Amino acid sequence: MANQSFDVIIIGGGPAGYPAAIRASQLGLTACVVERDKLGGVCVNIGCIPTKALLHSAAMANSIRKEAKELGIEVGEVKTDYGVAMKRSRKVAEQNSKGAEFLMKKNKVTVIKGTGVLASATTVKVGDDVLTAKKGIVLATGSRTKGIPPVGLAVNGTTVITSDEALFLETAPKRLAIVGAGAVGCEFADIFNAFGSEVTLIEALPRILPIEDAECSDVIAKSYKKRGINVLAGVKVVKADVKAAEVSITVEVGGKQETITADKVLMAAGRAVNTEAIGLEAVGVKLTDRGFIQVNPATLETTVKGVYSIGDVAGPPMLAHKGTREGIHVAEVIAGHHPKAIDYSNVPSVTYCHPEVASIGLTEEQAKEQKLDYQVGRFPFSANGRARASNETDGFVKIIRGKKYGEIIGAHIVSGHASEMIHELILARTNEYTVEEVDLAIHAHPTLSEAIAEAALDSLGRAVHI
Ligand SMILES: Cc1cc2nc3c(=O)[nH]c(=O)nc-3n(C[C@H](O)[C@H](O)[C@H](O)COP(=O)(O)OP(=O)(O)OC[C@H]3O[C@@H](n4cnc5c(N)ncnc54)[C@H](O)[C@@H]3O)c2cc1C
Repeated sequence: MANQSFDVIIIGGGPAGYPAAIRASQLGLTACVVERDKLGGVCVNIGCIPTKALLHSAAMANSIRKEAKELGIEVGEVKTDYGVAMKRSRKVAEQNSKGAEFLMKKNKVTVIKGTGVLASATTVKVGDDVLTAKKGIVLATGSRTKGIPPVGLAVNGTTVITSDEALFLETAPKRLAIVGAGAVGCEFADIFNAFGSEVTLIEALPRILPIEDAECSDVIAKSYKKRGINVLAGVKVVKADVKAAEVSITVEVGGKQETITADKVLMAAGRAVNTEAIGLEAVGVKLTDRGFIQVNPATLETTVKGVYSIGDVAGPPMLAHKGTREGIHVAEVIAGHHPKAIDYSNVPSVTYCHPEVASIGLTEEQAKEQKLDYQVGRFPFSANGRARASNETDGFVKIIRGKKYGEIIGAHIVSGHASEMIHELILARTNEYTVEEVDLAIHAHPTLSEAIAEAALDSLGRAVHI
């Protein structure tokens, strides 16, 4: 490899880093990605993609169990095998990582295998080799799993695990406790419940999916309880006793202590960012109070001129699509363009459990806190013809409309297909359409999306089908 020079050097080939390289190359810059593991990062290899493959297996198992007979389909006893589903999920992840490799070749991006360390504002060291950047260096080193050692839940990879290990298990544990009920925790609860584990979902905040609108959390909590998942929200993990084959977790609920014993504990209460040993201090790249790399949100430049940062390591929300947008943005900035500022208030949030939860903008709780003058429109899928036809009647669409101007303050969908449906509302909110303008669009019948138009109408007090 020896010493080489590029216009842009990107450390980290995850969903933030590799699209940055593609965009840089499209803009005529020479780009290089330094990646120590597989292209695609956490998202492709041990995050978004394999979990969605497993969630598909889980949804199929639940659907066949629950509905086959009613749909006129005769099947024998439904048996599940997590190992088989896991192997399929690995193939899907592998395909996606290969896809990223192909895209690097297609766009003439140089990929260097190894660990990149910032050596100066214009150079990166990979082993003994020095790479020089003529226009910019982008730090896209991402994040990693973590445990909670102070309460005895340090990750040991066998009984105390994280998503990293859960994605490679050959069998579903008989008893599984999940600590943290954000998107990752809720998705794994859904998966392992479908594969026969007795799941306990533990959340310190008062409700599961705590950053979502409370009504969405309620639907998921009810649906999980109905499926036999033990949902414990508003509980504090006090201590854990980790033995060779099981773990006992003591939690405090309303002043009383309770012990949950499980074969495995899956830690899903936050992630640590990869800021260590990449040369930040030596070069003068500063961190925020919360430990992320500090960037100027308009340019994504760090505290060192010519050094930029994107993705998980550059701050929340720690989501692949936020990182990808930053990757494209930073490449344009480095190429001397003036891209429109990233609108962080319009980053959608999705949890792919069943039913799915998808949202954009403020929750009703936030609208209340901010003392906004709003009206809420709701439409339940139980009143939607397509949802009835497809046995997908759980959930609703909720639109929070500004009373004076009709703007979309927030929109929330709980539905089997919420992750796909939310985009209509993302498009509307990003482009500042009013709720009335959402209704102006004629929605095809029969579709689940008609519930969006109905919720828009309901916020104006004139829903038709309810
Ligand atoms: C189980 C799970 C499910 C998830 N599901 C979703 C989802 O459905 N939707 C969603 O939007 N987000 C999801 N996420 C979050 C998503 O995976 C992350 O937000 C995303 O991967 C962040 O992208 P990134 O490029 O910033 O970092 P990463 O994906 O972490 O990639 C960083 C890359 O940098 C490499 N690297 C680090 N340091 C160095 C170094 N010094 N030298 C060379 N290479 C280095 C790493 O090997 C890695 O490949 C999920 C996460 C998990 C754990």
